[in-house]
Amino acid sequence: MIEPTEVNHPADGARHRAVLAIDIGGTKMAAALVGEDGKVLRADRTPTAGQGADEVFATLRDLIGRVRGDRQPLAAGIGCAGPLDRARGLVSPVNITVWRDYPLAERVRAAVGDVPVTLGVDGHCFALGEAWTGAGRGVDDLLGIVVSTGVGGGLVLSGREAPGRSGNAAHIGHMVVDQNGEPCACGSYGCVETYASGPRMVARAQRFGWRPGRAGADAVVLAADAAAGDPIAQRAFDDGAQALAAGIVSTAVTADLTFVVVGGGVSKAGPVLFDPLDRWIKRMAQLPFVQGLTVRPAVLENAGLVGAAKLAWDSLD
Ligand SMILES: [Zn+2]
Repeated sequence: MIEPTEVNHPADGARHRAVLAIDIGGTKMAAALVGEDGKVLRADRTPTAGQGADEVFATLRDLIGRVRGDRQPLAAGIGCAGPLDRARGLVSPVNITVWRDYPLAERVRAAVGDVPVTLGVDGHCFALGEAWTGAGRGVDDLLGIVVSTGVGGGLVLSGREAPGRSGNAAHIGHMVVDQNGEPCACGSYGCVETYASGPRMVARAQRFGWRPGRAGADAVVLAADAAAGDPIAQRAFDDGAQALAAGIVSTAVTADLTFVVVGGGVSKAGPVLFDPLDRWIKRMAQLPFVQGLTVRPAVLENAGLVGAAKLAWDSLD
């Protein structure tokens, strides 16, 4: 019999039951104890570092130890960069090369105790987090998209993650939106990501003759130039927004949903992305059941962590 975890809430000092949430990315790992209301009770983070697979995990195990202290979480939820094998609990994150078919779920269970451990793609956790306590609070069905160095996503249907057969559903960055398009890192061509990821927007702008207004040529500088009126930078964002809109509207008519949350580093560009995105969506979303399609910017700084906690709570139902 596991004693329920109770942790002092930072705001009201009351004791709360909690689950352990873990969010793993290529540059940092975060962990938190999260209550039934989605409030983060205690959290910490660490760089993703280590020579070998088990050394990287040792860093995570230390982080888990610091966050849980002497408390026993009721369950654990893990959000990790894909792809992954949900049924077998294995991860092979593109950006953590020492983990290939790494038995992450089993290792976390060994570190946390014999409680339910649920593994989800980081984009799914982003969508779940925003649906639970973020921009999509109160919305049962939504698509979440993370636009960054890649384009990821997740579907929430009837308030729950829609994982798909292998746990990798809603890889919207690799939805083909241009059947005559450029090669994609995934091996296909014409994917959303070939137009809408930060690096691909920058590369396209440079090909069109973009000269950055200040040092560096990344998506932040491109966004600043677009906001300042540079027509080439604006075109790159407009093309990216068009590809995103095609992916969004295709998903909306497939899954029958009308609410989308967009986050990630590139989404911080603000109106230079969201204005053309709204325009293209209005143009493409014509069927009556998707005409109200709404796109909102993400509001949570730690949506992945909050969504990982939701996975854990849902595993206890
Ligand atoms: Zn692709």
